[in-house]
Amino acid sequence: MSAKSTLAGIRSIEDFDLKDQRVFLRLDLNVPIKNGTITDTTRIDAALPTIRYALEHGAKLVVASHLGRPELNSEGTPTDESLAKYSLEPVAKKLQELLNIEVILVEEPESEAPSALLRSLKKNQMILLENLRFNKDETKNGEELADAICTYTDIYINDAFGASHRAHATIVGMPTKVKQKGIGFLMKKEIEMLDKIMVAPESPFITILGGAKVSDKIGVIENLIDKVDVFLIGGAMAYTFLAAQKVAVGSSLVEKDKVKYAGDLFERVKARDKKIVLPVDHKIVTKIDSASDLKTTATPAIPSGWLGVDIGPKTVELFRRELQNAKTVFWNGPMGVFETRAFADGTFAVAKALTEIPHATTVVGGGDSAAAIKASGYADQVTHISTGGGASLEFLQGDKLPGIEALRK
Ligand code: AMP
Repeated sequence: MSAKSTLAGIRSIEDFDLKDQRVFLRLDLNVPIKNGTITDTTRIDAALPTIRYALEHGAKLVVASHLGRPELNSEGTPTDESLAKYSLEPVAKKLQELLNIEVILVEEPESEAPSALLRSLKKNQMILLENLRFNKDETKNGEELADAICTYTDIYINDAFGASHRAHATIVGMPTKVKQKGIGFLMKKEIEMLDKIMVAPESPFITILGGAKVSDKIGVIENLIDKVDVFLIGGAMAYTFLAAQKVAVGSSLVEKDKVKYAGDLFERVKARDKKIVLPVDHKIVTKIDSASDLKTTATPAIPSGWLGVDIGPKTVELFRRELQNAKTVFWNGPMGVFETRAFADGTFAVAKALTEIPHATTVVGGGDSAAAIKASGYADQVTHISTGGGASLEFLQGDKLPGIEALRK
């Protein structure tokens, strides 16, 4: 492990003797649920290796997660609507089914119930605490919740990468109080993969950026500018860069206050002998919510009254050629409004191009990019898809994530 590795000084679940120990496992089980049914189990699936490891090694296991953003009333308790909408009950059922054990959902983590249950917990049982955000202390990093859970925690394990950029009670408060603390397998993989990009990416290193806004990605651009060989820019972000090049963009989304930044970035990247590649054609419409007049431009310019919703086929080919020689690729942000199938071709083609590069490390940043690559059908052919949207961006911005720092000895 290199001296600069983010994992230096952090223990892993494998470093502890878990037998008969009360292990608290903070997970990110924040899955989308529609009418009581989980519509995407990715985060649950990603948590299974650590849960299984803990159970197989004899831990008395308490797992916990947040789910959504429940509304709390003036007394700091969840509204009835939130209780119903954001309960982890469907998650408990899913875990029970996948692990083939009994999952006991405990509604009040601050009560005596968890301690009592742990005393007689059987091998084929584990405890799941109800949505941590039902308790006002979680997001405020309040002492009471952390102290209460610590009374029944011997070993604290964080495997919730997607929540580790937040200074919450079970992310930062608890590990500050518990001596035996470490990370699970998912955290380890996330950190290793993102470190690979940040610390010593193998060259040529290509970063593909897309999505809605330049402003959200400036931190990442700044932190990676000395390491990246080529930036491929698509999505709405590209129009701000095209505007900086004085190319007509019609009524496409442009961040006016970032046009100067984009223009300066061209110069800065050029001065480093690197390059920014922008779309050379676009799919355009007159209304973002209708594909009825969808057409492809022949040039980078977009006529007035029209707006770009995807990169065009010539751009796909250009990006694909650039990607051919890459050894490291990081991708964050879709190439167009991929949620509408008619505007998703560019995003899906770039996903495919990632899978065609021989011997490259290909990492996709979470959030919309993860959703896009899943929708493309190529998710299982990239090296790593981060489960954390905000967390992976903050990590790549060079920020220290509070949940990771709290785990150092
Ligand atoms: P982000 O969270 O910054 O990665 O942005 C993702 C969002 O950007 C998605 O919801 C896309 O629909 C949106 N997006 C991508 N390309 C465009 C575009 N050309 N015009 C408007 N929105 C876009």
